[in-house]
Amino acid sequence: MLEITSIGSSSRGNCYLLQSGDSSLLLECGFSIKEIRAGLPVRISSLDGCLISHEHKDHSKAIRDLLRMAVDCYMTEGTAGALGIADHHRGHTIVAGKVMKVSDWTILPYPTIHDASEPVGFVIQKGKNKLLYATDTRYLNVTVAGITHLMVECNYILDLLKENTASGLVPRSVKNRVLRTHMGLDTLIKYLRKINTKTIKQIWLLHLSDLNSDEERILKTVQGITGKEVIIA
Ligand SMILES: [Zn+2]
Ligand SMILES: [Zn+2]
Repeated sequence: MLEITSIGSSSRGNCYLLQSGDSSLLLECGFSIKEIRAGLPVRISSLDGCLISHEHKDHSKAIRDLLRMAVDCYMTEGTAGALGIADHHRGHTIVAGKVMKVSDWTILPYPTIHDASEPVGFVIQKGKNKLLYATDTRYLNVTVAGITHLMVECNYILDLLKENTASGLVPRSVKNRVLRTHMGLDTLIKYLRKINTKTIKQIWLLHLSDLNSDEERILKTVQGITGKEVIIA
């Protein structure tokens, strides 16, 4: 069993808990430590560690508190450098393409396409479960066999983003950045059609924009294409 808890998922903050047996692993820490503590069903001291995909605040806000509380945090050298914590003894460097272990979790970081310093996504395996985590990336070019859980960004719907830019609600510069650095529904659909979804049990959709997305439309579209249990984080 792999249980996923979302503490929050948007540009205001991202943080998820993975639990399997007695093990629990934090994915991102983009809220204040107070908010994370309040949202977690386990004690912070019982975490096996925390994985951080990149340095943006909405993924890393509580990093210093976690390090201070003796939680081992895992990130690329680029992320650690950008966060200014490269020398901390609880900060561990990970390398895209190199498999590593955190307790009994097996983790493969892979590069994502985002405006950050060495950002990564993760393939996380424990027992019979295999999770692909992908957010803050323009597109996804990894295919992994035997995925049981997919946690993937669905930031915007292109026609809504275009509408909001035309009406002046979204500045053109923001639109251009979103297109370059985040994954929208069309890109996600293409990905889902390309991969073998047979083994997937659960799909979590992450980092939806308040303005440029539509929960119901996204949920129905992804459910329709995959026939899977789909959850909006
Ligand atoms: Zn983000
Ligand atoms: Zn980001």
